[in-house]
Formats: sequence, C-alpha cells, structure tokens
Amino acid sequence: MWGKKKDELLKQGLDHFENGRYDDAIQYFRKQLDEDPSSAEALFHLKQAKAKSAPTYSWTCKDCKTQQESSIFPETAGSAEMKRGMEAEMWAEIADSVRDETCKSCGREASSSIYLCENCFEDYIAFVTFTDKGRGATSLSTTFPSCPKCGHRQKLAEDKPKHLVKRYRAMLEKYPATKAFAEVIRKSGVLK
Ligand SMILES: [Zn+2]
Ligand SMILES: [Zn+2]
Repeated sequence: MWGKKKDELLKQGLDHFENGRYDDAIQYFRKQLDEDPSSAEALFHLKQAKAKSAPTYSWTCKDCKTQQESSIFPETAGSAEMKRGMEAEMWAEIADSVRDETCKSCGREASSSIYLCENCFEDYIAFVTFTDKGRGATSLSTTFPSCPKCGHRQKLAEDKPKHLVKRYRAMLEKYPATKAFAEVIRKSGVLK
C-alpha cells in the first residue's frame, strides 16, 4: 500500500518532468517528500526540476540600494567545482548555489549563497557577501542560517536529524556525481 502510493507520486512527478511541466513536477516531488522525507530519489528529482524551472531571487546592492533579480542556477556559478556540483544536482549539505554577482547599476561585486531548505524545500538566500575592492576574498561561513519559511537550521551531516542523515547517505550512494562533489567540498576545508 505505502510502497505503491510512494512510487505513484514519484512516477507522476517524473512524467511531468519528462514533458517539461517543471512546476507540476516540483509539486509531486514535494508531496513525495512529505510522505517520505528520507526519499533520496524525490529530493534528487526535485532539485533537477527546480533547476529546470529557472527560479530567480532578488537582492539589494549594499552601496547604491538597487534591487535586482538573478537566476538561482546561473551559467556563471562560483568555482568550477561548484558549477559541477550544481550540474550534478548536488544535495544541499552546503549551499546549493554559490555565485558571483555584479551590481548592474554601480558595479559593486557580491557573492550569494542560496539554499534549498532540507526540511520544507523552499529556496532562500543564506548569505550575500560584499567584498571590498582590492581585498579579494569573500568570507565563507559554516554557521547555517535558519530557513525563513519553516525555521529549520541546516546542519552538517553528522548533526542532522536521523531521517535526513538517512536521505543524505542514500544520495551519496545512489548518485556518484553527488559523492564526488561532496569530497571536493570536504577537501576544500569549507566545512571545517
Ligand atoms: Zn550597486
Ligand atoms: Zn524551510
């Protein structure tokens, strides 16, 4: 009974996805995750559908206060590793999308991190970091901010709630690109 229903939601989501109805697909994958929060398949496909639906977010320049809209999954995503990870629809142990921004009005440079909440699956901006000219490096943080929608605070693998640890491990097992990306991130020292 349970298994049948679970497969049905996933199947319907995939059907929408294959026919280019990404918003519908998102709804089905989310329903699947409501039924079974440990479903790595549903999360994997949800992230694929989100990327395809070309979501945007708005941010405000610190200097000139211009509000602007950017794509969450841009062509020019941060580092090559980050881009690879996004292409592999990496599961959000850290930011789903880390990207560089340039204010269209005054040219100020910024870096944004966007999360897909691992609990309620809404996208939200975790950080917008502004770099001072000449200083170069942006700061990286391991303090995860809480989701503005549900209040959930994303945690590193070992500190996650049990059902999320289960899903995280299943993702690493099932999707080799995800595993490779997780290793790149670990080696980079970002998670220390
Ligand atoms: Zn500006
Ligand atoms: Zn949330």
